[in-house]
Amino acid sequence: MTSVDSRNLQVTGKLVFGRGCFNQLDEILGKKRLNDEAPFIFLVDDVFESNPSRDIVSLIPLRGPDRIIFVNVDDEPKTSYVDELTETIQREFSELPNGVIGIGGGSTMDLAKAVALMLTNPGGSAKYQGWDLIKNPAVYHVAVPTLSGTGAEVSRTTVLTGPERKLGLNSDYTVFDQMVLDPELIKGAPKNQRFYTGMDCYIHCVESLEGTYLNAFSRAFAEKAKQLCREVFLEKESWDDDSDEKLMMASYMGGMSIAYSQVGVAHALSYGLSYLLGTHHGVGNCIAFDQLDEFYPESVAEFRQMVEVQGVDIPGGICAGLSVEQFDTMIDVALFLEPLWENALGSNWRETITREKLRSLYERM
Ligand code: NAD
Ligand code: ZN
Repeated sequence: MTSVDSRNLQVTGKLVFGRGCFNQLDEILGKKRLNDEAPFIFLVDDVFESNPSRDIVSLIPLRGPDRIIFVNVDDEPKTSYVDELTETIQREFSELPNGVIGIGGGSTMDLAKAVALMLTNPGGSAKYQGWDLIKNPAVYHVAVPTLSGTGAEVSRTTVLTGPERKLGLNSDYTVFDQMVLDPELIKGAPKNQRFYTGMDCYIHCVESLEGTYLNAFSRAFAEKAKQLCREVFLEKESWDDDSDEKLMMASYMGGMSIAYSQVGVAHALSYGLSYLLGTHHGVGNCIAFDQLDEFYPESVAEFRQMVEVQGVDIPGGICAGLSVEQFDTMIDVALFLEPLWENALGSNWRETITREKLRSLYERM
């Protein structure tokens, strides 16, 4: 009898969930303070630097040599930024940090994962863009999401734009050692941003459920996460604490689903938009998904209902006026992501996904 090897999935070591659980961070880190001379590095989204209505900074449990570094995510993470942050830490501290804690949305969590990896793997992050190229375990690293939807808190990748491509550092060592899931921290995120990031989760579920890589593990997580997205974006009259809790769990479960399957058409096209135009992941997914009736008809219709109920704006016309070369760049980026197409459409995907087809989809965005 023959059998196909199943993926041996690396999952996060520990997680704590619940309103106010950010207060437990001091105790959690205390157990990992192996060297008193070495710092914990808190990479914190700079949106919290001077935001009196969201005072997360004063709650950060700094001790001894610990340091807060505010990170800017106006642009999604680049390999050059990861290297710069890593060098700053290495210049300032002679000891290897006890750990790195990322406090922010998907971009900040990805920066924390990448810096934790680069502190122990020499040569710059661009060298490790790909699958299982990381040689040494990262320093201990912790995810503290302040936006929910990307699933970056559970995934084995950190998505970086490098000199040649936008591609993750995919490895078992990338996975966080600890998650701190406190719904209080995502409260009050701006409505449009919360929707775009939330739709990243919804689209993860759709692409997983409607993909050829689907299996019972991924289905279980995606069905529940999709239902939670519906509850918060479609069925509730107004946003409340319960919505934050549900969305936080949806993000986790959507991430678990794609960890064992794959994303699909919207993500492939969104990577092209991001690479050429710098379109952020969540909004890029929304822009792409809105054009995908032929691939995911029922879910695209439901997505449009959610847009309407939430009263959010999905930008249009972002590809107007692009040159032939620019379209070609986006098409190259999208076509490079072969597993996404294979998941979406099966092994014969090249029969339908031609350059002309992608061009016509991009022209509508
Ligand atoms: P983000 O982290 O890029 O943040 C978006 C904006 O929201 C930023 O301006 C940020 O400052 C702000 N923000 C964050 N938290 C806030 C809060 N509580 N209140 C007010 N403003 C807040 O957004 P995102 O959608 O969470 O993450 C997208 C990023 O995640 C992309 O870089 C993408 O590549 C990455 N991503 C990674 C994975 C993975 O598995 N590693 C998966 C999907 C996406
Ligand atoms: Zn995504």
